[in-house]
Amino acid sequence: MQISRRLRNINQGGSDGWEVFTRAREMKAAGLPVVELTVGEHDIPTDPEILRAMYQAGLDGHVGYQNFQGQPALRERVAERVERSTGTPTAPEEILIVPGGQAGLFATHNLTCDPGDTALYIDPYYATYPGTIRSVGAVAKPVTARAEDGFQPDPDAIDAAAEGAKSLLVNSPNNPTGVVYSRDTMEGIARVCRDRDLWLISDEVYDTQVWEGDHLSPRALPDMAERTLVIGSMSKSHAMTGSRIGWVVGPREAISYMGDLTTNTTYGVAGFVQMAAVHALDMGPAFEAEIAAPFRRRRGVVMRALEGQNVVRAIPTKGAMYVMLDLRATGMSGEDFAMALLDTHHVAVMPGESFGRAAAGHVRVALTVADERLEEAMRKLVAFAAGRVR
Ligand code: PLP
Repeated sequence: MQISRRLRNINQGGSDGWEVFTRAREMKAAGLPVVELTVGEHDIPTDPEILRAMYQAGLDGHVGYQNFQGQPALRERVAERVERSTGTPTAPEEILIVPGGQAGLFATHNLTCDPGDTALYIDPYYATYPGTIRSVGAVAKPVTARAEDGFQPDPDAIDAAAEGAKSLLVNSPNNPTGVVYSRDTMEGIARVCRDRDLWLISDEVYDTQVWEGDHLSPRALPDMAERTLVIGSMSKSHAMTGSRIGWVVGPREAISYMGDLTTNTTYGVAGFVQMAAVHALDMGPAFEAEIAAPFRRRRGVVMRALEGQNVVRAIPTKGAMYVMLDLRATGMSGEDFAMALLDTHHVAVMPGESFGRAAAGHVRVALTVADERLEEAMRKLVAFAAGRVR
């Protein structure tokens, strides 16, 4: 069987980084009481009011082929939301509706890169980034954000890597680190993109999960709207992961070209899902805050569990549904630590190495179980780490 080089290259034949997750699922299936702090998915289902709107939209006839760029009503609502939250004037023609943020990542890299072009991304990174870049035939080039800098990307390091690159992918609030980029960082990134004529792909799927300070969309910075493509999604903001609904914001011409891609790939998003998304957006910012609230609270649970010891150190997280823990004091790799913790205490966390070299010696804790279970799991993790210090 002949498989294209492009697809064989997506995972580069190596590990996909999900071994701990897979093992945890197997242990759970075998009846073991595993606490899963691995996947970034809410512990609540989509709100019944949104599901009722979806059902009603189906009954009302939104069941046929759709406008490939998205339903006008949804494009309007998204444009309004973007304008309200970033202060940047945004028209519906600058919005493309896609089946989730992941589809937006794929579309934007298709738009910006030809096969063989270099696309930059920041390490640590969301697990699909390099594979998405390789899936369009581009070369994925990481730029390290160092633990010593609190995982804030360094504009000078981006500049040093930018020669000949076409795009830069950034993510704030960040998965896996929980870091929110400072204004200085964002302005530095914008400056490099302007100087080096790079497209900036800004993954903002965690924009409602900011615990300290404000979310700054780089599209709002001077002269950036013309070169920035923002990825948005309702997966995290509205607990709609399975509905597969998101968007890309960008210049009209770019949106139109990505619309051509949509015509030849997804053929649009289900009409009843789009109408449910309209309903969900109309539920307003208070509903979004309600969905985000447990993660804010659980971040506090983790911080309290770390008090009074200095083996496990939390990266100062300011957003997203994760806390990144520095375990380098144990001398273990994140992979070894996560596997051993799973085997001995039935607590599953993601090894930092699953998110790139820059996160080696760390683990990512997803704040996705009830507070009491999280507290108990953290107590086990801290005790386990303390026992590993030589
Ligand atoms: N971007 C980041 C940083 C993520 O963490 C995720 C999912 O976890 C996605 C994009 C993809 O999300 P979706 O396709 O569900 O919108």
